Amino acid sequence: MPLLKKPKPSQNQHLMSIVSDSFQSTAGWKLEHSYAGLPTLFHRSNAPEPVRDPKLVILNHPLASELGLKPEVLQRQARVFGGNVLPEGARPLAQAYAGHQYGHFTTLGDGRAILLGEQITPTGERFDIQLKGSGQTPFSRNGDGRAGLGPMLREYIISEAMHALGIPTTRSLAVVTTGETVRRMRPLPGAVLTRIAASHIRVGTFEWAAAKGRKEGLQTLADYSIQRHYPETAESENSYLTFFESVMERQAKLISQWMHIGFIHGVMNTDNMAICGETIDYGPCAFMDSYDPDTVFSSIDHHGRYAYGNQPHIAQWNLARLAEALLPLFHEDEKQAIEIANESIQSFQSRYQKHWLAGMSAKLGLFSEEADDSDLIHDLLKWMQASQADFTNTFRTLSQESPDLTDPTFQSWLLRWKARREQQSQSRQESVSLMRRHNPAYIPRNHQVEEALSAASDRADFSVMQRLLEVLAKPYDHSTSIPEYMAPPAADACEYQTFCGT
Ligand code: AMP
Ligand code: MG
Repeated sequence: MPLLKKPKPSQNQHLMSIVSDSFQSTAGWKLEHSYAGLPTLFHRSNAPEPVRDPKLVILNHPLASELGLKPEVLQRQARVFGGNVLPEGARPLAQAYAGHQYGHFTTLGDGRAILLGEQITPTGERFDIQLKGSGQTPFSRNGDGRAGLGPMLREYIISEAMHALGIPTTRSLAVVTTGETVRRMRPLPGAVLTRIAASHIRVGTFEWAAAKGRKEGLQTLADYSIQRHYPETAESENSYLTFFESVMERQAKLISQWMHIGFIHGVMNTDNMAICGETIDYGPCAFMDSYDPDTVFSSIDHHGRYAYGNQPHIAQWNLARLAEALLPLFHEDEKQAIEIANESIQSFQSRYQKHWLAGMSAKLGLFSEEADDSDLIHDLLKWMQASQADFTNTFRTLSQESPDLTDPTFQSWLLRWKARREQQSQSRQESVSLMRRHNPAYIPRNHQVEEALSAASDRADFSVMQRLLEVLAKPYDHSTSIPEYMAPPAADACEYQTFCGT
């Protein structure tokens, strides 16, 4: 099986082996290369392009330790994070994938990212170590392979906030500035992000395999993904269908978790949906302020394809693309394979609904589910939309011992909620504590994130970001009240927009 197979050294390995620094062996790198053992259809050997003057601007010490790396050593290794020096044992490659972008199929691949290898942690877990913004690859098309400081710090802040919120996500180990300028709408300081993921296999990786038309490649990728992420499905009767349903289950849960905290991914193309079930690719993502299912922040999402309320529907659409790619593995007769896939994909709705309801009930301090709970939740959301109530702060207020909500139009709902909670055997205190575990007091507010990024990018002042990260590390801390991190943007603030591919 590919995971266990020792990969063959690549032909141009010697070209990529930038001399390792002697101090590296002390950093704790323990890199393996199971993905590189897949057929070359799925990757191209490619070294990162060195940058002019790498400077570490942030290093995630707790994450480094979890990975078995020594932060005090990494602190001196800006050149590793800039791609100038390879960590010990690295075998850099760019991954091939395709994807549906805004509904249209296209071939893509890592155009500005390099997988250095898979770090084996002290507890035996396996994580991809990827440099993002590390220069051109065979998949760069016309892109420069680079990234700007603001967007890389944005990914750092939001992915770490998502992790602290308890949502599966890729993580961020470090950001370096490159000493180079990248040309976008305006010149930006260049940067490289080191991203950590359970893996970077995407729905689009399967679409790539299917588009290349070779069943063996597809099967090898599926077997590899099963072994790496869903080993429990390997023994089932139709293991590929069980694998597909397990991916669907993780995605149904993940999207429900996004919905519970008002997260809008912004660019749910199939290449940005990870098979392992982590949130991936923090481009134009943002958090909703006042509740409105039509909320869109991305400057290019003109038709609201990736609007907040459309995310479950798009997840199912993306999973249908995965099922399509997997058809030859579901059944050798295409007609029967399509029937199997169609029937299976129908279950997304009920899977999602189950997770959504469970999370929303917890947000309202309910321990079990009653028939009328769905109405109770939907009526609250209707009121929030009509009164343009802030999503996070409304739930935060409801999580107080005695919620201070005086709006007369809201009193009848409050009475219904009170009666429902009183039916429970659990105490009010237990109910409040359940709510506080599910309703964040702090989320990465868009205006706060922007302030942190402009201080970093325009003035090389990283203190604003550090302070924000400290608050976001404890999102469920209801014992503090830091008004500037709780306040929604000022009513007169201009409409917030986010951008792709920056
Ligand atoms: P994203 O919008 O980040 O998901 O990227 C979509 C595709 O565009 C991926 O194949 C990326 O590798 C590629 N891409 C994005 N930015 C660049 C860039 N500056 N240079 C080369 N490729 C890029
Ligand atoms: Mg992407």
